[in-house]
Amino acid sequence: MNHQPGPMTELVRQRVLAVYAQVEAAIAAARPHCQASGRCCRFTEYGHTLFLSHFEAEILLEAAPDYPRPATRDGCPFQVNGLCTVRAIRPLGCRIYFCDPNYQEPMSVIAEQAVAALKRIAEEFDTGWYYAPLHDFLNAAPVRSTADAAHSMTSPAARIALPVVVAPAAEQACAPASL
Ligand code: SF4
Repeated sequence: MNHQPGPMTELVRQRVLAVYAQVEAAIAAARPHCQASGRCCRFTEYGHTLFLSHFEAEILLEAAPDYPRPATRDGCPFQVNGLCTVRAIRPLGCRIYFCDPNYQEPMSVIAEQAVAALKRIAEEFDTGWYYAPLHDFLNAAPVRSTADAAHSMTSPAARIALPVVVAPAAEQACAPASL
């Protein structure tokens, strides 16, 4: 597991999306409260960093809208007016993180289990493993053609089937991020 990760096979993608579904189920069971502030996506301002795996980056960036470069560590370019514009394809950290003080312990457990599950997939399929801050992936991603960008802008996540978990209304307005 020491080579640079390449694109996911369909089987690996399905295994990764199954981890997403497990995470969503665990969060639904924990029932964290979200104040819909969107502050969790403004990383420097609130003192955290969103790390993600190459699996999550691929799912995010293949369908995300274009964004200004260079990306910085300060915040996520996909947060617009306090809302996440890539909610269906957001990384696991975005799904797991809530600032609810009563949820901090389960949050740590869910996060550890999710990363461990992704690492097991990487080992099982010998995909390589890369885990880095969001801006690293954003700056390393190839700039897409205008046609590709237009496709993603009009139909985010149209090319992938993601697990759907309906969150309470307050959480849908929120843009939780970062581990
Ligand atoms: S939830 Fe994640 S992907 Fe969405 S705006 Fe926040 S940091 Fe970006």
